Amino acid sequence: MDCLFCKIANGDIPAKIVYQDEIAVIFDDINPQAPHHKVIIPRKHIATLNEALEEDRHLLGHLALSAAKLAKELNIANEGYRVVMNCNAGAGQSVFHIHFHLLGGRRMGWPPG
Ligand code: 5GP
Ligand code: ZN
Repeated sequence: MDCLFCKIANGDIPAKIVYQDEIAVIFDDINPQAPHHKVIIPRKHIATLNEALEEDRHLLGHLALSAAKLAKELNIANEGYRVVMNCNAGAGQSVFHIHFHLLGGRRMGWPPG
């Protein structure tokens, strides 16, 4: 499958991986939008959140908890951080393999653009 994030998860395309386990891979975003900007992906290819299945419940929870764990390790947990998943092009999704963005290290505005 011609998927950028599957290739990163498989090690076919290099990325600065900061954490990985049997379910998730976390790496630095190539175009950071904050002092800390990590991309959290499942190893399993799921194109958008719309394609997630009931059987992906544990996987999705694992990604969210991995974000919180990493935020603590990065020392941004108390000041605050943002975890966001864009679904489809209208919301800004550009890579069609689901991922959370973990953003921190600066003040976040609301509503998002
Ligand atoms: P989306 O726009 O789909 O929500 O987020 C995709 C993210 O992947 C963007 O923030 C973009 O900067 C990042 N990205 C795109 N291509 C690469 C790449 O080749 N390597 C890394 N590390 N990040 C990438
Ligand atoms: Zn993929």
